[in-house]
Amino acid sequence: MTFESLGLDRPILNALAVEGYTQPTPIQAKAIPVIMQGRDVVGIAQTGTGKTAAFTLPLLHRLMQNKIKVQPNSVRVLILSPTRELASQIEKAVRSYGAKLPLKTATVMGGVSMRPQRQKLAQGVDILVATPGRLLDLIDQKACDLKRVETLVLDEADQMLDIGFLPAIRKVIAMVPRDRQMLLFSATMPKEIRALSKQHLKDPVEISVTPVATTAERIEQSVMHVQQPSKMFVTSKLLKERRGEQTIVFTRTKRGADKVAKRLIADGIDAAAIHGNKSQNQREKALAAFRNGALPVLIATDIAARGIDVPGVNLIVNFDLPEVAEVYVHRIGRTARAGAAGQAIALCSPEERKLLRAVERLISQDIAVIAAPDGVAAVDLSEEPVTERKTGRPNKPNRNKRPNQNFGRRPAAKSRSRSGQRHASAAN
Ligand code: AMP
Repeated sequence: MTFESLGLDRPILNALAVEGYTQPTPIQAKAIPVIMQGRDVVGIAQTGTGKTAAFTLPLLHRLMQNKIKVQPNSVRVLILSPTRELASQIEKAVRSYGAKLPLKTATVMGGVSMRPQRQKLAQGVDILVATPGRLLDLIDQKACDLKRVETLVLDEADQMLDIGFLPAIRKVIAMVPRDRQMLLFSATMPKEIRALSKQHLKDPVEISVTPVATTAERIEQSVMHVQQPSKMFVTSKLLKERRGEQTIVFTRTKRGADKVAKRLIADGIDAAAIHGNKSQNQREKALAAFRNGALPVLIATDIAARGIDVPGVNLIVNFDLPEVAEVYVHRIGRTARAGAAGQAIALCSPEERKLLRAVERLISQDIAVIAAPDGVAAVDLSEEPVTERKTGRPNKPNRNKRPNQNFGRRPAAKSRSRSGQRHASAAN
C-alpha cells in the first residue's frame, strides 16, 4: 500500500516524501481511510509505530477538503495530550506533515507564558494541541471556545480517561459539539477505560493492529533481581559499560530521579533529570539536549513515559518498576522506535516482585532474568518477599493468595490514577 492509494491531498504526500516515509505503517493504513470518512475511532498499536501520523494525516486532509475560515478564538481540530513534552512533539509533527498547507496550528500548555497562547487563539486555530489544565484556564478566560470543534483527539487515551485527567476531559467533552468526530489512540487500553470511552463515542471503528499492550518485538527485555540499595551501584556500573548509548532511566519519584542523576554525574556520567518539579525551561533544555545527542542519559519520571519519540534511544532502565503495569509498556516503548531495535532492563527488588508479575501478566510473557554484577548482594528468588507491617511484625507469606488481578493498581481511595498522575494540572 502507498500513501497515494489512500487518497491523501498532494501537498500532504509531498510533505511525507520530505520526511522520507515510503509507505504507511499498519496503523496508518487502517486508520487513515476510516478517519477520512469522519468516523469515530479507537486506535491501538504498539509504541513507536506511527500513531501520530495515523490521526494527523487524515485530519489535515479533511480540513483541506472543507476549507473554511476559522473564527476568532475558535478551534477546528483539538488534540489533547497528557504532557507538555508530548504536546510540543505532536505540534511539531502536525507542522511538518502540514508544512505545505495554509493551516494555523498552535500549542497551549502549562509552565510557559499564557500571553502568546492567547494571541494565537485570538486569530482562530485550525489545529490546536493542548494539555487539559492550561486549555481549561484559557477557556475560563474566554481566550478559547470549543463550540466549533469538528474533531477531538485524545492521544494516550487511556491515561486521558483515567481518574487523574477524567474531570478535565469531561469538561472539554461537554463543551465540544455533540456531532463532532472523536478519536482515541494509545498502545494500551485497560478494559474499564475502554468501556468508559464508549460513552463518548458514536459507533466507533476499533482498529487494533496488535493485541492490546503488546510490547514491540524488537525490544530485548530483561530483569535483574537486586536489593533496593544496590540499584544505584548497578545502574552506574551498567551505564559506564554502555557509555555513549542513548539511555533513559525511569524512576518512580521525582526525588528518586534527582538522586540517581546526582549519583551518575558524580560517577562521571553525563546525565540530567526531568520531572514535574523542574521548570519548563529545564525540562525543555534537558529533552532537547537528549534529542540532539548532546546528553546521553536522561533520568525521568513518567512524564517522559508516553509518546516521547527520540529515534536514537537504545536502552531503557527501569530503576523502579512502575506501580501500574501499563506504564511499563509505555516506558520501554521509548526505545525501538520506527523499526529500530532496543533493549530494556528492569531492576527488581524483592518488594517489587508483585509489580513484575503484574507486568508479565499484562504483556503475556516472562521477562528473561539476567545476573547481577559481581559484588552485588544476592537475592533469593525461591523465597516470597517478606514485607514489614506498620506494627513491625513481618507479614507471613500467603501462598494461597489468588494472583493479583488489579495489575498492580493502587487502591482508588488514594486519588492516584492508574497512570500514577495525581492531577491533570500537575502535569500540564
Ligand atoms: P509515533 O508512534 O507517531 O511517535 O511515530 C514513531 C516514529 O515513526 C516517528 O519517528 C515517526 O517519524 C516515524 N514514522 C511514522 N510514520 C512513518 C512511516 N510511515 N514511515 C516511516 N517512519 C514513520
